[in-house]
Amino acid sequence: MNDFITDLFNIDRKKIKKMNVVTSKDKTEFHIVLNHDGDLFCPFCYGVVHANGYSKPKIINHPKLTDRKAVIIFYNHRYQCNECLRTFSGKNPFTFSNFRNSYLSFENIMKQLSNLNYSYKMVAELNHISPTQVQRYFDSFVNIPRITLPESIGIDEIHSKMAKRKDSAYLCVMVDNKKRSLFEILPSRSKAELKRYFEKIPQIERNNVKYVTIDMWFPYKEVANKYFPNCIVAVDPFHVVEHLMTSFRRIRLNIMYQVEYGSDSYYLLKTWKDLIEKNVFLDNEPVYNNRFKMKLNKRQLLDLILEISETLALGYHLKEMYLTFNKNATEENCEEWFNSILEAFKKSGISEFHDFIQTLENWKPEILNSFKRPFDEHKLSNALCENINGQIRTYLSVSKGVSNFIRFRKRCIFALNPKVFYSITNQLKSNKVQGKRRGKYNKNK
Ligand SMILES: [Zn+2]
Repeated sequence: MNDFITDLFNIDRKKIKKMNVVTSKDKTEFHIVLNHDGDLFCPFCYGVVHANGYSKPKIINHPKLTDRKAVIIFYNHRYQCNECLRTFSGKNPFTFSNFRNSYLSFENIMKQLSNLNYSYKMVAELNHISPTQVQRYFDSFVNIPRITLPESIGIDEIHSKMAKRKDSAYLCVMVDNKKRSLFEILPSRSKAELKRYFEKIPQIERNNVKYVTIDMWFPYKEVANKYFPNCIVAVDPFHVVEHLMTSFRRIRLNIMYQVEYGSDSYYLLKTWKDLIEKNVFLDNEPVYNNRFKMKLNKRQLLDLILEISETLALGYHLKEMYLTFNKNATEENCEEWFNSILEAFKKSGISEFHDFIQTLENWKPEILNSFKRPFDEHKLSNALCENINGQIRTYLSVSKGVSNFIRFRKRCIFALNPKVFYSITNQLKSNKVQGKRRGKYNKNK
């Protein structure tokens, strides 16, 4: 029993003098009277006091039960001073005076808010309070200072309506590649915004940045080279491969639209595209193919595809060459290997590869830098932190129409940086942007 009570209210069972539980269909009320505190003195003159009845019962939302609303009806003692005759209430162990929700509800709310799968609306429903109230607690309990720049920074972006439209449609997301945590989100990935942010950071701190991994957004490179004099900039290999695959897909589609609709070639290019575009196991047991009226395995089908067009076959082999290079090159041999591949791409004369060749030429040093392995086994990339972007995207989709960037930034960093904590306070404020009221709130705590 003791453990149950302690767990239910987070107070010592011995403090409770009387408790009545009143249960109705969808609500449970815990009517509670506490024992007198030991040595009580007047808060005004330190005189001796005597009990003087009860305060008006206070209803405190206490979302401890999962299937129904639970409230504490707290009958606090009143005391009167024998000396100065003033009256005052006893201590309230359940919540701050003037608050309608218990300390435990704050713990619940903050725990749920540290998970980006929960929207404010969902947290509100789980705790039987309004979404505005949840947001107000969050705004008040979490403060995020600027976090010190890590040694290895990963910069990426997320498409969002919250981005400063005139600069860019993307927010800029910055992660600590080593600790795999989020440390900053900026309202735009524009050069102006990046400069504004990094310029404010002391030079001595910026000098400590050793590695920056980016996708191929030119301002990232410019800004990294300008503000981090000691850093190596590496392009995330995944983004280079993505670019390659987009170009290769275009070769396939251009050929598919040239061949006769419904022909064998059309069928192969449409139905079996994964064989040339994805990493598929080719040496399976042959399976009967209705179109060709014979048993074929995937390698045989691949050969049929590559027979359709010389350009497609050449494009395929170049693509495979780059993927092998990307997978197996080392810091020592990557430059020579890279140069020979670049030559081969240029010689092919395949127009769909023009942009990709341009990319290889423009980003050569940064691509080669990605083969350095300063941290254990991993190449320099944004891969370690791709799950962070994934979680932010999940949050954007569960909380449709999120529009308050200040609150969004706080919420993401709170959830995705284990060094950021909350502290419960009775000074409530709001990060609400629209409307006039901004600052401290007194009502409806
Ligand atoms: Zn007194």
